[in-house]
Amino acid sequence: MKKFQYMQSAALLERAKKVLAGGVSSEFRKYNHPHALFYTHGSGSRIYDADGNEYLDFTLSQGPLILGHSHPRVLSAVQEYSAGGQLFAGQHIRELELAEQLQRLIPSAEIMRFCLDGSEAVQTAFRVARAKTGRPKFLRFEGHYHGWLDNVSWGISAPDATAAGSRNAPAAHAWSAGLPAGARDEFIILPWNDLPLLQSTLAERHGEIAAVITEPVMCNNGCILPQPGFLEGMRALCDTYGIALIFDEVITGFRLSLGGAQQYFNITPDLSVFAKAMASGYPISAIVGKRAWMDQITEGRVVHAGTMNAGNPTIAAAQATLQVLEETQPYERIFRYGQMLMSGLRRAAGRTGHQMTVSGPGPMFHTGFSGQPAIREYRDTLDFDRGLLALFISGMHDRGIRIIGRGLWYISAAHTEADIHLAVDTAEEVLGNMQH
Ligand code: PLP
Repeated sequence: MKKFQYMQSAALLERAKKVLAGGVSSEFRKYNHPHALFYTHGSGSRIYDADGNEYLDFTLSQGPLILGHSHPRVLSAVQEYSAGGQLFAGQHIRELELAEQLQRLIPSAEIMRFCLDGSEAVQTAFRVARAKTGRPKFLRFEGHYHGWLDNVSWGISAPDATAAGSRNAPAAHAWSAGLPAGARDEFIILPWNDLPLLQSTLAERHGEIAAVITEPVMCNNGCILPQPGFLEGMRALCDTYGIALIFDEVITGFRLSLGGAQQYFNITPDLSVFAKAMASGYPISAIVGKRAWMDQITEGRVVHAGTMNAGNPTIAAAQATLQVLEETQPYERIFRYGQMLMSGLRRAAGRTGHQMTVSGPGPMFHTGFSGQPAIREYRDTLDFDRGLLALFISGMHDRGIRIIGRGLWYISAAHTEADIHLAVDTAEEVLGNMQH
């Protein structure tokens, strides 16, 4: 086995700590193995670090790289369109073309606005929902992630099952200091995939609730599909009480299908948010929705703005990404390879005597260590053995397979069948070396 060394990255990290807080530009980048690493380039399914290590990459930059690293069509579109300008503080035709393309692709996209990232698009959706309903709160679910801003910085992680509180009144844990006290009053939090509980809560409290926000597949703690009827029931309840149903499609968008989870599950939300896979890593997001809700922006009651919105490079990257996805339709292959990898990992775990739970639809999925056969909600993930997961992730990393530290895997159109076999064989070797 080739020995992976991280000495160059370690030295660069020490240098970075003198100028970048914690040595990084996003908190999650600290949690790499064995520490934050520096990368030099990526190509297709591979990424290379400053020590010259090559990795088969299943992190895909936390999701955006649905076409793999450095797709030539995306790079040349950005280069060509940026040559004529970067940002006009005004409209341009290709921005309009992109919006028309999204309107055609996404079922609920009657009308839209472009923003820079998922976090701010989520906040725009809340603002629209509050403005239309005149109600103050949104309802969210345990374990779901909706960005890092104040009112959503609760509820993604309880240290253990006791700290999670009762199911009917979960404890929301803040994951940052410095949050304004009032932000906690903006939301109600519930366990996911529990329609009766959602029903009783909305029956009692709908007068306070402007929006229900959900990841249509819960990807930020485990990777959990909605129970049959759950999203449908949520849709019906939101209709009954005049509440905005917001799908946070930051991960599922352009990953489950070109029209996102809403097309995949055939459920149309009122508002939804797209980001990551939309532009192969360039900073753009979209809030899309039904006119009846988006009119709040159209008619100028809700302000949505941003100096950097819809700049030329990001629009070109999004157009090229979506064109390649439309032309090549890689979804059947992405699902097939994802599911092939999932079954390979289950087999490898079985052969080495590990209780590994592998869950998700395929284009993204999660590996955790527990005897839990069926993961329904965040509370089920609290039993996962985080020590074993860390051993697995670091063992894979030291053999050139890069996975997100919380056990999430993403498949891209650039992964090949040989990549899948390599990942499965490596996993079997790593699992075979791990203590139970
Ligand atoms: N919503 C979901 C479901 C996410 O996974 C993320 C980021 O991972 C966000 C929102 C926030 O998006 P961004 O990091 O682009 O601000």
